[in-house]
Amino acid sequence: MKNQYLFLILIIMLLGCTNESKEFSKLTGQAINNNLNEKYLGPIIDMHAHIYPSSSSENFDYIDNLVLEAKKAGVSKICLGLHARHLNNRPPTYSYQHDKWIMRSYKKYPDIIIPFLGSFNPDDETSLVYVENELKKNIWKGIGELDLRNSIKQTKTPMNSTIMMRVFLLASKYDVPVLIHNEFCYGTKCELGKNEMRNALKENPQTIFIIAHECPIDLMSEFSNLMCELNPFSIVPNEFVDRIIIGTDVQSPDLIIESGSEIYLPRYYEGIDLIRQILFQTHDAEKIAYSNAAKILNLKG
Ligand SMILES: [Zn+2]
Repeated sequence: MKNQYLFLILIIMLLGCTNESKEFSKLTGQAINNNLNEKYLGPIIDMHAHIYPSSSSENFDYIDNLVLEAKKAGVSKICLGLHARHLNNRPPTYSYQHDKWIMRSYKKYPDIIIPFLGSFNPDDETSLVYVENELKKNIWKGIGELDLRNSIKQTKTPMNSTIMMRVFLLASKYDVPVLIHNEFCYGTKCELGKNEMRNALKENPQTIFIIAHECPIDLMSEFSNLMCELNPFSIVPNEFVDRIIIGTDVQSPDLIIESGSEIYLPRYYEGIDLIRQILFQTHDAEKIAYSNAAKILNLKG
């Protein structure tokens, strides 16, 4: 699924339409301002960013530029992991080397990069030994983004597969959240795919799950261990404000954030600026922008 919410933000700005603005403010149920020229100025954690798995030098140029741009945009931390949509409409290429690139990025920018483990194949049983050996090092702060059912990447891993259930158990054992991409209707009947999710969430109550790109209200209501990435297309009741985080899904050297629109493709800085304007609409901006993420990442201070 594409990260479509920035396109909605653009529509709001272009039309100056108070209806959409008010609707979005229901995200937390606490609208305080409809002036989109004002911004949330506090810290931001971007919980969803990717490396660029082409060549090592291209990746590190991209990371240098991303960090520069993030600093300019006032983003405090970036959770960095696989998989970028490097090549569309083909299965992902897994390489443990990519986790090494993430670790190298973290060592170069320890104050801003937060390393997420994700270069393993969710369908390969040997991944389990790798995941546990890496988590034992106590340096990874999260797992993901894992492509489970993903139409663009053509992956069809059931969320409750034997291997994934063991990965989720390891995540709780080592106290790290898991960021997942799961279009539950892809490659199966929607009802069956949703039941896979329910089963995984229910059987792993100690694991913190983050759904990328969307906030499925019904599942959020059912499972308190489920968090979600901000998406204004779904109105999220105020009761979930402690479980929403921000992610840009940035993944290419041009630092463009996918908006779901071919006519509007903001660069990272612009995308964050728009998020700041939208966040200003709620009393809970600081939670959504920073402290919810800081809590599950066990950041101090
Ligand atoms: Zn992503």
